[in-house]
Amino acid sequence: MAIQELNIHELQARLAGGDLSSLEATQAVLARIDLVEARVGAYTTLDREGALAQAAVADRRRAAGESGDLLGVPLALKDIVCTKGLRTTCGSRMLETFVPPYDAAAVEKLKAAGAVILGKLGMDEFAMGSSTETCAYGVPKNPWDLSRICGGSSGGSAAAVAADECFGALGSDTGGSIRQPASHCGIVGLKPTYGRVSRYGLIAYASSLDQLGPMTKDVLDCAILLKAISGYDRRDSTSVDRPVPDYPATLAAGVKGLRVGIPREYFEEGLDPEVEAAVRNGIAALREAGAEVVEVSLPHTGYGVAAYYIIAPAEASSNLARYDGVRFGHRTKEADTLLEMFQKSRAEGFGAEVQRRIMIGTYVLSAGYYDAYYRKALQVRTLIVEDFRAAFEKCDVLASPVAPTPAWRIGEKIDDPLSMYLSDVLTISSNLAGVPCLSLPCGFSATGLPIGIQLQAAHFEEERLLQTAFALEQALGLAARKPPLA
Ligand code: GLN
Repeated sequence: MAIQELNIHELQARLAGGDLSSLEATQAVLARIDLVEARVGAYTTLDREGALAQAAVADRRRAAGESGDLLGVPLALKDIVCTKGLRTTCGSRMLETFVPPYDAAAVEKLKAAGAVILGKLGMDEFAMGSSTETCAYGVPKNPWDLSRICGGSSGGSAAAVAADECFGALGSDTGGSIRQPASHCGIVGLKPTYGRVSRYGLIAYASSLDQLGPMTKDVLDCAILLKAISGYDRRDSTSVDRPVPDYPATLAAGVKGLRVGIPREYFEEGLDPEVEAAVRNGIAALREAGAEVVEVSLPHTGYGVAAYYIIAPAEASSNLARYDGVRFGHRTKEADTLLEMFQKSRAEGFGAEVQRRIMIGTYVLSAGYYDAYYRKALQVRTLIVEDFRAAFEKCDVLASPVAPTPAWRIGEKIDDPLSMYLSDVLTISSNLAGVPCLSLPCGFSATGLPIGIQLQAAHFEEERLLQTAFALEQALGLAARKPPLA
């Protein structure tokens, strides 16, 4: 197997065994990037020199007796996490020249563990989108079919992992942005419980929904990365002070006696028959492995899209006020007055989708409309939280599709925001409720497009989520499949 095709845990075994150095692993993955990146287009910024230098440091640390799950492992990051000294664009022209003066908390942890940061990955502008087509630096392609979207908004992360252009990546998930691209690109992606991973240094989209999480080639890698980035951080007031379990150590617990709930509302009209068949096949595999399957109901699922597309833009309209050409972001060259400077800077710096969200958000928060929209949406959110609480009395894990269809063609929905928003119907409830969830490959369409199964669990039950995913991964045996990129 080529070096860049290894999983994180396989690479680590070889690094620890001494038959491979971090420098060699980094060179191998950079050569892979040279080979396929012109077609895939996953990266917004590649830090070739920096990565080689970090690899050399990791090799010296190992020679001095250090070890660790991530020591010397080349990873890449969604371009939404701040990296000290390395440009962070958030997929926007607004931040084209922004070089953060500090690292995000998760990045600090990865660096301290000795990971090598290869660069930053393409994403929908400010994480607003489901296809990565709103990225200002080019659209990453799906490695399984280059004419199709890789999903979004963490599309570059999913594409890079699937194409072996890094050994693992971080994404962020506000309404599905880790799970949906993971599903479309045939990799594993996990959104942790809200509060599990610090949001310090994660550029804010909708602060009450945003979480960072791992995107990896298999479930064990996912457990390793989650363990590395989790934990309390006083710099994020929503971070929760709870011990971090040793996720990799408990992975093989199995699913005997586990109650798997099938939410009726996630299998309704609009669900592609091939997606349904692959997910049902995954559920059958869980049953064969000893799980008990029960039907459950999350009755307010159908209101999730409407509530989310009020709450998320409302928070975004406030979060994005800082990009005014003074405190942050692009400043226009042609303005006679201060007001004109604000207006033109924002008009030039933000793309159409971001402007649409700011306008929707400003509208739903405005006097006279607040009660009709924003307050109503918060009430719906409470009902959705209550749905999950009731469902988790009847089951331990929920199993469902991630996205209603496999990856669509580039260009197919970009001029139809409503149909793009509706494609998020199966992922946004978990963010509204704050529960942990993941996407795991469970099959392929007849034309060879990956299909993911979504697992959700109660707050802070990531261990159980990963154990279930691990058992299913073993049963399905799909983790080794690679996209047909020469
Ligand atoms: N597609 C959703 C949106 O556009 C979710 C994005 C995300 O999770 N960052 O808002």
